[in-house]
Amino acid sequence: MSDSQTLHWQDLSRNHHLPPFTDYKALNAKGTRVITKASGVYLWDSEGHKILDAMAGLWCVNIGYGREELVEAATRQMRELPYYNLFFETSHPPAIALAKAIADVAPAGMNHVFFTGSGSEANDTVLRMVRHYWAIKGKPAKKVVIGRWNGYHGSTVAGASLGGMKAMHGQGDGPIPGIEHIDQPYWYGEGGELDPEEFGVRVAQQLEQKILEVGEDRVAAFIAEPIQGAGGVIIPPTSYWPRIREILARYEILFVADEVICGFGRTGEWFGSDYYGNAPDLMPIAKGMTSGYIPMGGVVVRDEVVQTLNEGGEFYHGFTYSGHPVAAAVALENIRILREEKIVERIKAETAPYLQSRWQELAEHPLVGEARGVGMLGALELVKNKKTRERFDKSGVGMLCRQHCFQNGLVMRAVGDTMIISPPLVINKEEIDELIVKARRCLDATAAEVLG
Ligand SMILES: *Cc1c(COP(=O)(O)O)cnc(C)c1O
Repeated sequence: MSDSQTLHWQDLSRNHHLPPFTDYKALNAKGTRVITKASGVYLWDSEGHKILDAMAGLWCVNIGYGREELVEAATRQMRELPYYNLFFETSHPPAIALAKAIADVAPAGMNHVFFTGSGSEANDTVLRMVRHYWAIKGKPAKKVVIGRWNGYHGSTVAGASLGGMKAMHGQGDGPIPGIEHIDQPYWYGEGGELDPEEFGVRVAQQLEQKILEVGEDRVAAFIAEPIQGAGGVIIPPTSYWPRIREILARYEILFVADEVICGFGRTGEWFGSDYYGNAPDLMPIAKGMTSGYIPMGGVVVRDEVVQTLNEGGEFYHGFTYSGHPVAAAVALENIRILREEKIVERIKAETAPYLQSRWQELAEHPLVGEARGVGMLGALELVKNKKTRERFDKSGVGMLCRQHCFQNGLVMRAVGDTMIISPPLVINKEEIDELIVKARRCLDATAAEVLG
């Protein structure tokens, strides 16, 4: 039952707010859920329910909720210098210090950062930067960027175009010209009868086919998430990245690893590229960069690309809030905490292996066709038939499970009929136990309704 304060907020929301990724009519019919506070790995809603947030907000609250140090860093910076821009040969200490702090944790040879306000802006920056790069090198025809179906690179025009979400393309004439897509390495959903490793090689091979089809002289870059997040925590077979690396080595194109989710410790390494041994040229970052306490994004750029940009005159690109001093101060403090508390090392050595072994227990559940995960990421495929991987014909089994999760004090996200988690990196073993108990309870409740 909703109390009167909740009803009041729901009403105001109906009357005035257009929230992102929302079916307005459907939401207005039931009323939004209102989250009012958070601490550690827990949220509270407006009716006082305590909820374990196994999504870390939207994949971003890496150090957990309620860290006073970040509040203090923001307050201090607001008092000292709340805003100044980085345009036209000016700068400020937080942006400069943050660029250095990111270079210190980034893969070798990636020592510069272009700051943005979000992950989407980071990918818009990527599109402009790679085309600018090739123009400086005297190859202005190299403009095409190859992305992947079901990849996610944000929701601006460039971000949605680089991404491969067909529903997003369908609204507003996407993708823009000059973007191509190849298949994703989603073995469970698209691998059919193939062995996973064989499937991994086969989908990787599509990159070479696409380069040859478009023409190497027209391809600027390949963009991919190390592990697809919003697409449903899609973890490539182990054969995938080595084959992609071989192909990239054969052709003169840039490699963009979208680290917006995988970056800042999510896989148990600082970046997903470290986890897979990939050496990208550009890395869009956001989300865990500030643990979501304040918006910020950026693109980490390889030295060789920077050397070329240095020869190109003015790069006519940037945002009013590029490297915003308050956001930069929060990001710096976030990185300090990740490093000093050895959070990335701890999840690699202890909590991620523990989460993954407990997560695998759910594979036994009658509703679960596959349980998979890496680091602090996990997915469960809900299926009608575990042996044949047959899906439910009626849609919305994932959403039904998600409803049961909320009722049981757990946030899991549903991507179609794939349930996914991405908890705060600081989740401890007791909280992981609670996550698993609750997840099982939601699966049972869902199975009771759909397996009957
Ligand atoms: C969330 C996300 C983005 C977009 O970031 P925003 O800050 O929402 O604009 C881009 N790429 C990936 C991989 C993401 O998960």
